[in-house]
Amino acid sequence: MTDPKRLNMQQLVSYLAENSAHWIESQRAQHRVHADPLPDTTLAALSGFFEKGTLDRTRIRHVASIENPHFYREFEEAGEAFPLDFTVWAAITFGDVILVNGEQVPGPPSHSVVFHEMVHVVQYDVLGIHEFARRYVTPFVQSRFNYMSIPLESVAFDLQGRFEEWSGDPFSAEEEIRSRISAPGLPYAGSGRPE
Ligand SMILES: [Zn+2]
Repeated sequence: MTDPKRLNMQQLVSYLAENSAHWIESQRAQHRVHADPLPDTTLAALSGFFEKGTLDRTRIRHVASIENPHFYREFEEAGEAFPLDFTVWAAITFGDVILVNGEQVPGPPSHSVVFHEMVHVVQYDVLGIHEFARRYVTPFVQSRFNYMSIPLESVAFDLQGRFEEWSGDPFSAEEEIRSRISAPGLPYAGSGRPE
């Protein structure tokens, strides 16, 4: 049993990145077998913004609710609530599997919500699950749990905002994600694909 209060910042980052990566892998495996391809209306709306191959291999599943990871209990037992509550999110993405949260989104999700999650699908593809988790957790912990300081999220919200305002021919969100994620000088850019 780990008491998160006794970890320094670097230990907390490693602990969370490792546990998050395992959680993402197991959630992906658990849900992928029950998930469906993106519906035709979604494919039509997002075509051009993302590559056909990326859209085709993505799976989506509507679930009654989204549960927080088991390792959150260690924070609760140490008297702290973990400051990222997935149960109130509209959707969450594990690799190439998007879960839509029935508690927040009773009907079909908007194109905008799926667009945002597709940004994460591409990020996972470039980085792999372990590196994605590391780049998510590191700025989150270092900013004292400011969700908006996570570059993987600010890119997703930026592009999602543009998508919502967009009319006319699609812009290639996928190309921008792939080039921005490995651009040198950006925080936590790393040196490209691990493994
Ligand atoms: Zn997001």
